[in-house]
Amino acid sequence: MSTTVLACPKCAKVWPYGGNADRATCPNCKGKVPVERFSVEKLDDVVVQLREQMDELQEGADRRLEVYGDMKQRIVELEKRIDELEADADDNSGFDFDSV
Ligand SMILES: [Zn+2]
Repeated sequence: MSTTVLACPKCAKVWPYGGNADRATCPNCKGKVPVERFSVEKLDDVVVQLREQMDELQEGADRRLEVYGDMKQRIVELEKRIDELEADADDNSGFDFDSV
């Protein structure tokens, strides 16, 4: 019996399996994974699956970057507003409050 490569459909963990059981236990998430004997087609499927998962992760990262950029923009606007308020305060610094 030779070692085969298994890919977990749940967490995409890929690991070599050398046992004889019909089902293996994923070392990552402990999920049951049907053991299929190694074939090039199967490995292609695994690669496609992993690519899709990577794309999803990348999309998630892009979204987080967008949110981050949005927050940065808001901070810049707030800083501008604070500068304006400070400038206003400076303009009024000669104001005599006692005469009100
Ligand atoms: Zn798993």
